[in-house]
Amino acid sequence: MKAQPRFGPAGTPVGVKGGTLEGIKYVASEKLDAFECQFVRGVKMKIYLAKEVGKVAKESNVLLSAHAPYFINLASEEKIKLKKSINWLIQTARISHSMGASNIVFHPAYYGKSKEHAVEITKEALRQTVREIRDEGIKDVFLAPETTGRQSQVGTLEEIISFCEEIDGVIPTVDFAHIHARTDGGLKTQADFANIFDLIEKRLGAEAIRNLHSHFTEVFFKKGNEKHHLVLGSNGPKFDLLAREIVERGISPTIISESPILDKDSLKMKVIFEKLLK
Ligand SMILES: [Zn+2]
Repeated sequence: MKAQPRFGPAGTPVGVKGGTLEGIKYVASEKLDAFECQFVRGVKMKIYLAKEVGKVAKESNVLLSAHAPYFINLASEEKIKLKKSINWLIQTARISHSMGASNIVFHPAYYGKSKEHAVEITKEALRQTVREIRDEGIKDVFLAPETTGRQSQVGTLEEIISFCEEIDGVIPTVDFAHIHARTDGGLKTQADFANIFDLIEKRLGAEAIRNLHSHFTEVFFKKGNEKHHLVLGSNGPKFDLLAREIVERGISPTIISESPILDKDSLKMKVIFEKLLK
């Protein structure tokens, strides 16, 4: 099959006046076809606007996803914080449902004192969150926890895969920059990218990589911790390695740019990819 990835930014492009709606229209005018709505500081969008956003995105063939708040910690020892974290996910699920965004991206948790314990509590919380979302009658959204970029965060590739294996309604988001940072620059060759796809395919099935949700940005890191995102062509990982792997596999992932220049790097990635296809 011919690879047909989707490209687009995490949020409204720099310099565009207005909010999500204007951002999506602008992205469509650039011939990009994905957009991750940012609820990273809270879910404040009104339902009527979410419906309008969904309508415009659908008409312009822009695939929507949503990034839930940063403050989520599903492994919190404090009951109130845990409840709040689950609620932020539920709020994001409601707004995503109204917009027609199926993937809810988020950083699941922090380890705290014990890694194993944190992972176990996170699983329990994920199960409960999916149950509550489905109980509200929302069947068309998925929790898509992302591979995280710091040693203190739950979210190695292995952990994310195990969540997806064990809990219905949970699918992976692969943030390549975060994997690169966490493994202290581990994504050096095309084979390093291939290993990620192989592992997901082996454990979650071919369907899981065909339309994989992902983030790609170059990244500055220190001692296995992400420091900040960078523009393409600065510090790696190199996008053309990922692009080659996608072409060879004939898969069609969504690739969200979180670079400081957002959509401009999406456009660059698209050009690199299209050159390879020829
Ligand atoms: Zn994120």
